Amino acid sequence: MVLRRALIAASQNERLRSLVARTPVTRGVVNRFVAGEGAHDAVRAAAGLADVGVYSTIDHLGEHTVDPAQAGQVTREYLRLLERLDGAGLAPWAEVSVKPTAVGLALGGEGESLAAENIARLCASASAAGTTVTVDMEDEVWVPATLRVVTVLRREYPWLGCVLQSYLRRTEGDVAAMAAPGARIRLCKGAYAPSAGTGYLGRHEVDRAFVRSLRHLFESGAYPMVATHDPRLIAIAGTLARSNGRGHADFEYQMVFGARPAEQRRLAGLGARVRVYVPYGREWYGYLTRRIAERPANLAFAARAVASR
Ligand code: FAD
Repeated sequence: MVLRRALIAASQNERLRSLVARTPVTRGVVNRFVAGEGAHDAVRAAAGLADVGVYSTIDHLGEHTVDPAQAGQVTREYLRLLERLDGAGLAPWAEVSVKPTAVGLALGGEGESLAAENIARLCASASAAGTTVTVDMEDEVWVPATLRVVTVLRREYPWLGCVLQSYLRRTEGDVAAMAAPGARIRLCKGAYAPSAGTGYLGRHEVDRAFVRSLRHLFESGAYPMVATHDPRLIAIAGTLARSNGRGHADFEYQMVFGARPAEQRRLAGLGARVRVYVPYGREWYGYLTRRIAERPANLAFAARAVASR
């Protein structure tokens, strides 16, 4: 837990970022978990996944946009990505995931309406391309505004996905509020660092809360998107699907690019819907330090790969 907190703090440290970027081990980790720097890399990765029957959700890396112009640039990058996905015939195999702070949420004052406007533009473009959008969930301070934005936009785009994090105590209430019929809800443990009052700090508590929310989702009319690499939780999701009479098209498993690829293919081979989170772009540092905070073995894996070259 101490290491995890230190790594999450490091994910926000700019000096450390440039130091880390220069090490060969970092290159190994980046290559494993990030599709590449350009949209064409992400589209290529999504096409490769679609070829083996796996869906994807593509994230343009970057968060905490500092001004409205930058939020506009990020939005245009996503619009170009959606055009490319459409051009490559990848809808509905590939959708996009967007961080609200990357499209303006953190700008204060008008930030929330700017983020809503920008995400609405992505929804319109995704809808025209025959695909969908999921709004990622970030640090706990952004949860209420993110859920407000999703709730408003769902009136026009009911398929807009949202994310709930089981490490937050509020999440079971949010599951109840957001689980409308057909609502696409990604349930994950949470990748940031909640405070003691608002979050569960112990691994087992987070896992137990995950199962409670998962059960609620499977029993509701919502469409559960089960985002975990945890073998026990994946097995529980399968059991809940069967006991609630849900077929393969009625929920999906989600994992990140580079994590448990054999398991992704195994589940897809059984007929399950599997979606992989495919990040691309130059701003990989915050994303990768969170992956290492979750599983320090991810760094050891890359170190071994570099040493054996
Ligand atoms: P962990 O608790 O990290 O691991 C449990 C067990 O799973 C491990 O003991 C190990 O047995 C196995 N395992 C885990 N990783 C691996 C691996 N790479 N290889 C082999 N075995 C492994 N978080 C957010 O806060 N907001 C988001 O919007 C968000 N979106 C996400 C989208 C997707 C598709 C996914 C998969 C995750 C997302 N996350 C998000 C991150 C998530 O919250 C967790 O931090 C992350 O998934 C790690 O938790 P875990 O459930 O995979 O299991």
